Amino acid sequence: MMRRRDMPELPEVELMCRNLRRWTSGKTIVATEGIENASQLLHKNIRTCFRRGKYCILPIGELFVIIHFRMTGKVVLLREERKFLRRKIILCDGMEIGIIDQRRFSTLEIIVSANYESRFTSLGEEVWPIHRSAQWYQSRLGNRRSSLKALLLRQDIIAGLGNIMCSEICFRIRCNPQMKASDLSLDQWGLLDGAIHEFVGQVLSEEEGDEIHYVSQGGSLPKSFLVYGRGGLPCVECTASIIHWQISGRATYACPKCQAYEVS
Ligand SMILES: [Zn+2]
Repeated sequence: MMRRRDMPELPEVELMCRNLRRWTSGKTIVATEGIENASQLLHKNIRTCFRRGKYCILPIGELFVIIHFRMTGKVVLLREERKFLRRKIILCDGMEIGIIDQRRFSTLEIIVSANYESRFTSLGEEVWPIHRSAQWYQSRLGNRRSSLKALLLRQDIIAGLGNIMCSEICFRIRCNPQMKASDLSLDQWGLLDGAIHEFVGQVLSEEEGDEIHYVSQGGSLPKSFLVYGRGGLPCVECTASIIHWQISGRATYACPKCQAYEVS
């Protein structure tokens, strides 16, 4: 199944973590290409792979390998020559894993596990798979005058949400992305948890397989996208034409009826 995504956000990173965990857990690395100081990783047990925000983290021996995919990076199982291959890991059973990245912004860091907490002190809290209450959201976001979308994108408050998710979440709670956070009611904050879990759940259930495809690579949109990329098409709830505009230079989609809001 072809999957179409923008740059990696929480669900895409979660999928890549699941793939990495499936491919690498319990194995060791015997060789690498394109990774600095990689000799310290060799022949040590890869325990698991987990997600923190938009990072994939592999505990290997006493070290943590921290991967961030930025714009176009993704992790793939190498079965053939791949364009834009930047890093390669060869496992003890011969399996080869690559990070391909057209725009070269992805990063890979190696830290000692004792430095894990301090590495992520400026990263915000997780909102999936953990559930968060209306009060939790309101106390962190509700006293601010920034737009709802700008706040949801702040990785130092909530980790992992991205541009596509913000349009989809705002549509699901029927709030305009440009609405001032301080104007949301407690009831509206209470809808966020369900919206985030619904969207992530939909993406994870429609995506399976070894490779993520990004929206920027072209093709049709996934079913989980109710507004994103649907400018001019009828709203799934009310049939009004979906509008799109830029907030902070990023594409934003909303229904002008379901998410009506007077910008003041
Ligand atoms: Zn609508």
